[in-house]
Amino acid sequence: MTSITRENLELMIELQSTEIEAAGIEAVLAVLPEQAAALESELAHATAIVASRKSQAAELKKKYRELEAEFEKGQARRQKRQTQLHSVKTNKDYQALLKEIEDIGSACSRMEDEMLECLDDIEDAEKALADAESTYGEKKAHIERKNREIEKQAGVEKEKLQLLQSTIARIADRLDPKLKRQYDTIKQNSGGVAIVSVNGAVCKGCHLNIPPQLYNELHRENELRLCPHCYRMIYVL
Ligand SMILES: [Zn+2]
Repeated sequence: MTSITRENLELMIELQSTEIEAAGIEAVLAVLPEQAAALESELAHATAIVASRKSQAAELKKKYRELEAEFEKGQARRQKRQTQLHSVKTNKDYQALLKEIEDIGSACSRMEDEMLECLDDIEDAEKALADAESTYGEKKAHIERKNREIEKQAGVEKEKLQLLQSTIARIADRLDPKLKRQYDTIKQNSGGVAIVSVNGAVCKGCHLNIPPQLYNELHRENELRLCPHCYRMIYVL
């Protein structure tokens, strides 16, 4: 049996609560970069949508320019054929030329319809692009604000952690080294909780009853006792 002073007992209790608080802050600090990364990927997604809308609009404009060039070529050809009408010698050639002019005319009219359709598509694509850009802008502002909050929170938490760590070091310095080693071993084996109170003969660590004799002995403060079930250090308040 290890004898223990009230001071050492209180130091261990304080050490444990400080360590648990520090672990909580470390957990928060560990999550913050993940939150920032999630925001980044959200922004990357919005960026990709803008890029895709942009290329859709550009594709449609290119298609329109091609149609327009084709249409103009057709118009020129028709013009040329019309001039040729004056110089044909036979009726057969004349009819053939007329037929060709008519064909070119209907091809041009189909192209005109296609161009109008394409203009509608361009309008839709440009609207979609504007929407995507505005979503991106909103998202970017939101993410920048969130990132500043995350940075600020990280700064505050780090400061708190530093304070707790220096408290932990100060307590550990004052604690009996042999007890500290025992505390660390039990802590490691018991999910981070090495010392627990006993309340009405029930261990707060494992919630099992401790034998009455041990419970009575616990009221003598000068002996370190372990719970016979979970092997944590126990004490009564
Ligand atoms: Zn127990």
